Amino acid sequence: MDLSAYTILVVEDHDFQRRMTLRLLKDLGAETLLEASNGREALQSLVDRGEPVDIILCDLDMPEMDGVEFISRVAEFRLAHAVAVVSAMEISILNTVETMAKAYGLQVLGAISKPLNLQDLTKCISSFQPKGSVRAASVAPSEFNVEDLKNGLVEREFIAFFQPKVSFATGEVLGVEALVRWFRPGHGVVSPLYFIHQMELEGLVTPLTEVLLTQTCGYLKAWARRGYELTASVNVSMLCLSDVSIADRLHDLVKDSDCEPKQIILEVTETEVMVDVAKVLNVLARLRLKGFGLSIDDFGTGYSSLQQLSNVPFTELKIDQSFVKDSPIQPRHRTIIEASLDLARKLKLKTVAEGVETRAEWDLLKSLGCLQAQGYFIARPMPGHQVLDWIQMWQAPEEA
Ligand code: C2E
Ligand code: MG
Ligand code: MG
Repeated sequence: MDLSAYTILVVEDHDFQRRMTLRLLKDLGAETLLEASNGREALQSLVDRGEPVDIILCDLDMPEMDGVEFISRVAEFRLAHAVAVVSAMEISILNTVETMAKAYGLQVLGAISKPLNLQDLTKCISSFQPKGSVRAASVAPSEFNVEDLKNGLVEREFIAFFQPKVSFATGEVLGVEALVRWFRPGHGVVSPLYFIHQMELEGLVTPLTEVLLTQTCGYLKAWARRGYELTASVNVSMLCLSDVSIADRLHDLVKDSDCEPKQIILEVTETEVMVDVAKVLNVLARLRLKGFGLSIDDFGTGYSSLQQLSNVPFTELKIDQSFVKDSPIQPRHRTIIEASLDLARKLKLKTVAEGVETRAEWDLLKSLGCLQAQGYFIARPMPGHQVLDWIQMWQAPEEA
């Protein structure tokens, strides 16, 4: 492949590695080479340049602006035709980033692990298609069918984002909830609200749970290696729990990922599809015996009822965000929250308030004795590789 016609930008904070990459590219015949030592600097030079470069080779773990943020800006402003990710991070993380970049409409040449060598670089660059158009990302979900969903599972387009759960009392980050996002190439990011129901109808929700649990265990291990022992909550549809083999499968999956069931909290979410309640109870009891935490999600709405609480060995109750919202000015919401917290205390369940958006909601829920908070006031759901950086920046609100 003749690289002399292309402009290639290398973004790498490590001087030696940047020089080495430039050398290898020259050996491959590249003539027009640009370089930057971080995302911010690279973005500035691309904006100044005024026309897109052909290829960007980008490290992920960089100071100032990390590679993921950089890639999303590049896509948003159409600053390149193609990107290749070069990083020392785990391959599963590289795959995630690759999927995201594709969803933003960028041509992705591949993810190369470090140390970079000529063979990998050649293979990656030679997949570049010069006429590749740069499409804009969009967030509006468009029509999709069961084949798109199945294909999305095969192509690893479903990505776990993580939203922190923190202690009201100490501000400490105790865990995260995994929330799926569909990075659909050419269509942008699709919210689970648009596809979970259809996945349930098509029998795809169990594979999805397994995908999310696998990604989650991967991150739990990576975080633990850096000294952060977190728990992670994974949403499990009631429908998924009516398959009697699921308890063993989830257990084996967690063990095979070198994690322990006690690190995982399964959040039972309701479904409109009819399920066999007896089977679900059997499965939940077995999951609890195997050590998983069990959380009743969206408590107070739909199926998340008192009856379930009396039958299932739950360990946690999540107060639905519809009650948290406006609770400081809505006496009825406050009353429901107080009753739910009272019930949870008597049943010895941990309590989590979801959808905490304001300081006033934080103060109220804290004063009522709720244990954990989750919501935009603390943090929005984020990609797994950002979690530890976020934890380091996080400061709980000062006492009122
Ligand atoms: P959920 O489990 O109750 O998750 C909480 C939802 O509230 C998430 O929406 C989260 O992004 C959003 N949220 C968090 N904090 C705030 C806040 O302060 N304000 C507001 N307005 N919203 C907030 P998301 O990610 O769109 O998920 C929606 C629902 O989709 C989830 O509700 C869950 O029932 C389902 N879901 C998500 N991921 C999965 C999954 O992997 N499997 C299954 N079966 N269901 C999932
Ligand atoms: Mg949930
Ligand atoms: Mg919820």
